[in-house]
Amino acid sequence: MVRVVFVGPPGVGKGTQAAELARELRIPHLSTGDLLRAAVAAQSPLGRQAEGHMRAGGLVPDDLVLQILQERLGRPDAAGGFILDGFPRNPAQAVALDRITPVDVVVAFDLPSDVLESRLVNRRVCPTCQSVYNLLTQPPRVAGRCDRDGTELVQRPDDRPEAVATRLRVYAEQTAPLRELYRARGLLRAVDARGTPDEVRARVRRLID
Ligand code: AMP
Repeated sequence: MVRVVFVGPPGVGKGTQAAELARELRIPHLSTGDLLRAAVAAQSPLGRQAEGHMRAGGLVPDDLVLQILQERLGRPDAAGGFILDGFPRNPAQAVALDRITPVDVVVAFDLPSDVLESRLVNRRVCPTCQSVYNLLTQPPRVAGRCDRDGTELVQRPDDRPEAVATRLRVYAEQTAPLRELYRARGLLRAVDARGTPDEVRARVRRLID
């Protein structure tokens, strides 16, 4: 049983790593970004409130994110461990998480900012199965189509250049300070996120195992 939190700037590859590691470790991958995007797609009341914040690249208000996370963490499959991807994103969320569950390890991903920007603007996703591609480093086999299900790939609205700048700024101002908080508790393990997904995954596994 392992309860893992992934912290890192947008575009660092957290989601790709979390999805694959969760499969290997047989624990759920809990991404607040994915949960929020699903709520937006369903146009639930929460999704409608979150949508504008997400599109602009800002944070969704804490109470909404907490609501969606608490519901997900309360499901039976999360009782045996999880990888939390994209939460907490500010100190208040870290306090809220402490009240919900203990955490065993916090993996912090590091990548130079020019590489981050390139990964974000070249990212394309499958709206059906959420697979992630990169036009430069991991293109789909058939241009514009998902390898798994053939769905037409899309660019996330918040991967457009204007929103990317906001997201990187929000990360530096609100999320990066969490590293110190978790370092002080002895939970932080930093990982170099350069290289291929397989290379990075091997590094992360060494930190978790
Ligand atoms: P992500 O897929 O993790 O990059 O998240 C996409 C967007 O969802 C973010 O830019 C935020 O607008 C929103 N979001 C995801 N997780 C959180 C969170 N923990 N707190 C606030 N907003 C979030």
